[in-house]
Amino acid sequence: MFDLILRHANLPDGRRDIDIAISGTRIAAIEPAITAEAREVIDATGRLVSPQFCDPHFHMDATLSLGLPRMNRSGTLLEGIALWGELRPSLTREALVQRALKYIDLAVTQGMGAIRTHVDTSDPRLVTVEAMLEVRDLVKPYLDLQVVAFPQDGYFRAKDGVASLARALDMGCDIVGGIPHFERTMEAGRASVEALCRLAADRGLPVDMHCDETDDPLSRHVETLASETIRHGLQGRVAGSHLTSMHSMDNYYVSKLIPLMVEARMNVIPNPLINIMLQGRHDTYPKRRGMTRVRELMAAGLNVSFGHDCVMDPWYAMGSGDMLEVGHMAIHVAQMGSLADKSAIFDALTVNSARTMGLEDYGLHKGCKADLVVLQARDPAEALRLKAVKLHVIRRGRVIARTAPRIGELMIPGREALIDPGQGFAPEY
Ligand SMILES: [Zn+2]
Repeated sequence: MFDLILRHANLPDGRRDIDIAISGTRIAAIEPAITAEAREVIDATGRLVSPQFCDPHFHMDATLSLGLPRMNRSGTLLEGIALWGELRPSLTREALVQRALKYIDLAVTQGMGAIRTHVDTSDPRLVTVEAMLEVRDLVKPYLDLQVVAFPQDGYFRAKDGVASLARALDMGCDIVGGIPHFERTMEAGRASVEALCRLAADRGLPVDMHCDETDDPLSRHVETLASETIRHGLQGRVAGSHLTSMHSMDNYYVSKLIPLMVEARMNVIPNPLINIMLQGRHDTYPKRRGMTRVRELMAAGLNVSFGHDCVMDPWYAMGSGDMLEVGHMAIHVAQMGSLADKSAIFDALTVNSARTMGLEDYGLHKGCKADLVVLQARDPAEALRLKAVKLHVIRRGRVIARTAPRIGELMIPGREALIDPGQGFAPEY
């Protein structure tokens, strides 16, 4: 007798009509036609069942602050940073916690199971860090939140930036952040990468840096990040977020850089929504896309996962907490439209991001945590195309969110009355 069985599920790897049996908080069996009974049964009716989505790059301290104290007029990254600096003195712990919880409510209904948030350590009050650590505890029963100590104004550039970041780590942040391209000089950027990797090695922590979030092809801090990763034996525990300058780099240089990143086993985190919105702003036409070289990095065997980065904050007035929206944009910006491409993009929102975040027992195997989403789509390609509704969200074996399917009612004589966008439109393949 199982606690829950999901019947007739399609899996992201292409297996069809599979049953998933759950005992307690774990997957107990995953195979066709399980004969045993369960206390609760959900019939997935040939729809896709995926492990929960994971967002490896977010700014939870800034989310839902859109319009405070004013809107970003130019829409640029740099005005966003300036605007955040204007808002920061008035931030309160209570307001930060309430906004974060509100966003997480939304994200959970969209199937989110884990978020890695960067948290600004530039204001020595560290109210942002206090608030996000509180949120990490509050949401623990239903969402894994990882907190990166992030020196938004520069590790060396901000007054007391070095001391504030150390205090944030002492308070309990999980990961060492950085922003080398925002230091005063290239040399200071390089020195910040060296210092922060040494700090992470000393404290036994992973690293996740905003790195080269610029269109400048000579912004090459990713090279230092990779070499310092190797020097300190941090292979596989370091993430390079954004890496947008790689879009504009010389091809010969990149042919040397990517193998170095492979040697460092660097996790790569592009943020397609933000990258297409913020990069190329100094271009007239042609205008660069600005996202890093996703196809080439994946082909080299690097672990690529996508972040949502921002939702309604000084940098981005859009966003919905839906990782399928992130993947939808990635398909366009990276021009990855084939079935195999879409499958790779779906993995970048799920298994790859879980790997970036070091989540244990994640996935669709016997013994994994039963953290699942039933989608109103039959496979990953359809889920991405439709930004499909998350019908059931299951956390540790328990349904924690439900959304009704999107069914259109058509009042045209002689035509089908009910239209399910996830049924019967895509060709069989
Ligand atoms: Zn970011």
